[in-house]
Amino acid sequence: MKKIQLDYYQSKNYFSNMFVPVSKPLLGEEEESRVIEAIRSGNISSFQGGYLKEFEEKFAAFVEVKHAIAVSSGTAALHLAVIALGLRENDEIIVPTMTMMSSIFAPIYEKVVPVPIDIDEKTYNIDPKLIEAKITSKTKAIMVVHLYGHPVDMDPIMEIAKNHNLFVIEDAAEAHGAKYKGKMVGSIGDIGCFSMYANKIITTGEGGMVTTNNDSYAEKIRNIKALSFGKEHKLMHQSVGYNYRLANLQAAIGVGQLEKVDKIISLKRMMGSYYLAHLNDLEDIILPVEAPYAFSVYWMFHIVLRGKLEGKREEFIKKLKDLGVETREDFVPYHEQKIFIEKGYVDGNECPHASKYSKEGLYLPSGTDITEDELKYVCDAVHKVAEELKNKI
Ligand SMILES: *Cc1c(COP(=O)(O)O)cnc(C)c1O
Repeated sequence: MKKIQLDYYQSKNYFSNMFVPVSKPLLGEEEESRVIEAIRSGNISSFQGGYLKEFEEKFAAFVEVKHAIAVSSGTAALHLAVIALGLRENDEIIVPTMTMMSSIFAPIYEKVVPVPIDIDEKTYNIDPKLIEAKITSKTKAIMVVHLYGHPVDMDPIMEIAKNHNLFVIEDAAEAHGAKYKGKMVGSIGDIGCFSMYANKIITTGEGGMVTTNNDSYAEKIRNIKALSFGKEHKLMHQSVGYNYRLANLQAAIGVGQLEKVDKIISLKRMMGSYYLAHLNDLEDIILPVEAPYAFSVYWMFHIVLRGKLEGKREEFIKKLKDLGVETREDFVPYHEQKIFIEKGYVDGNECPHASKYSKEGLYLPSGTDITEDELKYVCDAVHKVAEELKNKI
């Protein structure tokens, strides 16, 4: 393991003039040519042009499912999943507390109550061992979130779901291409949901995708995402619909992204290996693991401060920022969100592991276009900041 010579770097102004963003998408000719084609042909909305259909078909093939339905965001995908499964007011859904709040909002839109589960201390994903104790006669579904690109341990989840007759929604917004025991995430539960926001594994600017092998869910989702137009008489609507459509213009970007998704995933995994190899000498930083069942896509390289760095995240982030290294702190977990404590859904204390780790967690620059020089720079900056803060009280 290389030792850093801080004096050398300082003398050369090594730690100035650098900026490494937390995330930047890999966009190029594949997207540009298709977007231009869409504009020139005038086919920009969702009922025009061929990119939407192509994007859905290729996405379905990629996730190895029968149906993929493109929608306007990951949040919309989750909302449609809740509707398609027929979850209703006062039903309960088991959720991981550690997630982006979209996973929680989606059931709440339908007045379904999310019941938080604490995290597994190694993967930060939902801990399957804690689920059964929270199942009641109102529980209708389990939502899992493949956090930071690492798949959830799905076998125990599917077993619990089978035994208690529950649906399973996979929030795979951060995990396109991740695999659990060789199976694509988004193809294991009843419905999978993906996001195509700019910092996700693939992007369409804004966008989402719903995946399923179930024909009737697919049909329902297709109908409701587009205002629920009638079958015989189009303007006699079937139900209350939403406009959650993705545009042909956005799908043009998506088709370009899918063309290189394997490359993107291998870049993410190379980034993961680089960080793991060059930060593993830091005893006060917990690095991510890849469980034996997992093929992780390292959406974001997530670290947790401990030992002498515990309680110093704010300073850690600030010092890295001063060196031009952009980071993001962890989500605030569901069970700590004030709006939901006020509603009485959560009490703020029920998930101690998530509370502990989320206060110390952050992610390092993980853009798909990050270079080896930038990775090296980030690792050097992390060493420098860790060294400075270690002995500071
Ligand atoms: C990004 C994300 C979403 C929401 O996706 P949007 O496209 O931003 O609506 C949902 N869940 C998780 C875990 C996410 O990271």
